[in-house]
Amino acid sequence: MNRIRVAIQKSGRLSERSLGLLQNCGLRFARSKDKLYWYGQDFPVDLLLVRDDDIPRILLDGVCDLGIVGQNIALEVMREGEERELEELRNLGFGRCRLSLAVPEKSGISSLADLDGCRIATSYPALTSSLLAERGVRAEMVKLAGSVEIAPGLGIADAISDLVSTGTTLRANHLVEMAVLFESSAALYCRPERVPSKKQALLNRLLARLDGVLQAAESKYVMLHAPRDALEEITLLLPGAEHPSLMDLESDPDRVALHAVCREAVFWEHLEALKGAGASAILVVPVEKMLG
Ligand code: ATP
Ligand code: ZN
Repeated sequence: MNRIRVAIQKSGRLSERSLGLLQNCGLRFARSKDKLYWYGQDFPVDLLLVRDDDIPRILLDGVCDLGIVGQNIALEVMREGEERELEELRNLGFGRCRLSLAVPEKSGISSLADLDGCRIATSYPALTSSLLAERGVRAEMVKLAGSVEIAPGLGIADAISDLVSTGTTLRANHLVEMAVLFESSAALYCRPERVPSKKQALLNRLLARLDGVLQAAESKYVMLHAPRDALEEITLLLPGAEHPSLMDLESDPDRVALHAVCREAVFWEHLEALKGAGASAILVVPVEKMLG
């Protein structure tokens, strides 16, 4: 059938943002009672709600065309020796975390080299051992599905390699973060076999909307008044702005109103620099949708 099926996490850290992102692309779903399969209304894109760990397999088996999952999970499957590549179509920027090595506070392990020959507990053995091998370290992986942080205390590992975002769990277990192996975020993956050509146009439409949403999330619409003789300088100070629109100010022939879309984050420092260059009445507003 000429529909696209997307796998997302059913419940967990990525669920809300994954669904929200698709809804921001204008997709609406009829939610089924068992909540596993949501039919797309208006736009032929359906959802399959599953555990995040199952998403790579679902794509490899061609059950879904697209999937949103952490790069940590997709890469673990790739490094396990899966020959077919899951293609990362877009980095979605949420679900950020880092795969870090942590050791007990008084372990005496202070550098990566000290880990050579050690046992490392992790839910990501393939990714961890390949990242360590790239750094010339060979260690033994102890695979645990969860609660990796208790492994050193139980005496089943010398160190752990686990996902960290704030570090609170590590501290609570008297572990210190020693090195960051990998920075991960959620990404949109495509199944390895090409999407059938009849679905390609639909996929391109979905990706164009997604790009619009992702760009809009970063972008700001900036309005200000600028002295005519400082226009060039002020345009250069606007982060990621192209071709601002200029409008005459009837009340002040020496100044113009300038409107521009900034495609990069706009910080207070930028506004201060703009003011320093003579800009006034500076307004920064969010962009909701963007196309083209
Ligand atoms: P499921 O029931 O679907 O298997 P889970 O418990 O394995 O869920 P979550 O804890 O919801 O998974 O994490 C999903 C993803 O969120 C992780 O794979 C990772 O990409 C990302 N993530 C972001 N921050 C963290 C964090 N601090 N700890 C763990 N994962 C994080
Ligand atoms: Zn999981």
